[in-house]
Parts: sequence; structure tokens; C-alpha cells
Amino acid sequence: MKTMFKEQGSSPATAKDRSPRVRFRELSAGYPGRAVLHQLDAHIPALAITALVGPNGSGKSTLLGVLAGVIRPTSGELRHDGDRPPAFVPQRGAVGDALPLTVRQTVEMGRWGDRGPWRRLTRLDRATVDTAMQRLAITDLATRQLGELSGGQRQRALIAQGLAQESDLLLLDEPTTGLDPEARERIATLLTELVTDGVTVVQATHDLEAARSADTCLLLHDGHLVGQGDPEQLLTASTLARIWQPA
Ligand code: ADP
Repeated sequence: MKTMFKEQGSSPATAKDRSPRVRFRELSAGYPGRAVLHQLDAHIPALAITALVGPNGSGKSTLLGVLAGVIRPTSGELRHDGDRPPAFVPQRGAVGDALPLTVRQTVEMGRWGDRGPWRRLTRLDRATVDTAMQRLAITDLATRQLGELSGGQRQRALIAQGLAQESDLLLLDEPTTGLDPEARERIATLLTELVTDGVTVVQATHDLEAARSADTCLLLHDGHLVGQGDPEQLLTASTLARIWQPA
């Protein structure tokens, strides 16, 4: 993993002092016949963890898809300040149990962006895959099928696939949802370490504990950005009650 950590000052910079890794203005996006995101203005600070928070259907995954370049904005501006394509870690549920893939094959797919699926991996690619697996402590699971794993193990395999892409921007969709506290904690610690190594992390999450431990958050409601900034200040009981109230 490339090191791009730039902060050297005596007092740690807060997320709002950091330069943007991604910025967007009046960004709208959605699906054919379905507008989802409406005129969002925000930025994703570099070398920080940003949580995308909001109720189900508020547009978190759609925004991740836009940041990943999978969903094209219908209007507005989106600017990336980075030299690598983002790495996208999908929701565990979106990855079929029935796929006959081993953990190692799953992680190797992270090299396809550079290599293409039909070219043999180089020695360097294999070393990158090994490092990603070690980092997620899944080396012992290399030959196991994805479908046989626990939720936490499968999540780690998917994150390792993301790391194998060696991007400076890691986008994760609900990485801790449904996991036990130990598995959640493990992933939270890893994400913090990745930031120290020079990676910008964005995670969509329902998990308020994960959101509160992020450096900054974007709060979505019904496709609108209704708040951005320090999670502790933003995610107050009254705001949450207002946003999460049943329709
Ligand atoms: P969240 O991640 O916050 O749960 P999503 O971004 O998944 O929200 O969904 C936002 C809205 O977009 C929802 O109303 C959802 O039904 C709709 N949506 C999501 N994916 C698609 C799709 N592929 N086609 C059409 N509508 C979609």
C-alpha cells in the first residue's frame, strides 16, 4: 500500500482542515426513471474516515456508486483529486453465496483492474494479494469457499479484495452491519490504520457507533444532504429521531 500520509504538524488536523479527496457540487444521480440524489454539495476529506449515514433508502449506496464511478451523475460536478481509481467493497449480501470462489480467488479479483481477468497474475500481484490477506488475517482461509465463511470472515475477504486494488480511496457499503461486536471492532481498527497508511475511507453505515467514530459524516435523508461535519455534533438524539421517524 502506497504511503501518502502528509500530516506532520504537532497537533492533528481535523477532518475539516484536510484537503478534499473528492468534491461534488449540485450533484444529482439515480437510476433510469428514478431520481435518488438531489443537488448534493459536499466534499470527502483526504486521509480521513467519512461515514455516509441515513435511513434505508436515503441514497447512501447510490452515493457510493457515484463516488466509485459506477453510477453516472445526471447533473452537477464531481471531482476526484487522486491518481488511482477508487476501490469499492460491496455489501456482503450483494455477493452471492453460491459463487464457487475461494477466499484467495476473491482477493485476486482485486488485481483485475490492473491486469484484466484473463492475464496471469505477476509475482508482484501475488505479493500484493498475500499482503492484503495477511492484513485482514485471512491467510489461513485462502482455500475456503466464500459461501462457507462467517459474515465477519466474508467481510474481511471483501475488504482484502479492496486493499489488493492499492487505491488511495476505499469505499465500503455497510461493512459492519450484522457483524458481532468483536468483528465490528476489528474492522473499525483496520479502517483507522488504513487512514494512517495514506488511504481515504468512505463507509455507508447504519451502525451509529461506526458513524460516531468516523472523522466526519454526511447525513442523507430522502436523497438530500441534511447535514455534514463532526458526527458527535451532527448525530444528536433529536436529529436522529427526526430523520429516522417512520414515514
Ligand atoms: P440506502 O443505501 O441509503 O439504503 P439506496 O441508495 O440503496 O439507499 O437507495 C436509494 C433509493 O434508490 C431507494 O428508493 C431505492 O429503492 C432506489 N434504488 C436503489 N437501487 C436501485 C436500482 N438499481 N434501480 C432503481 N432504483 C433503485
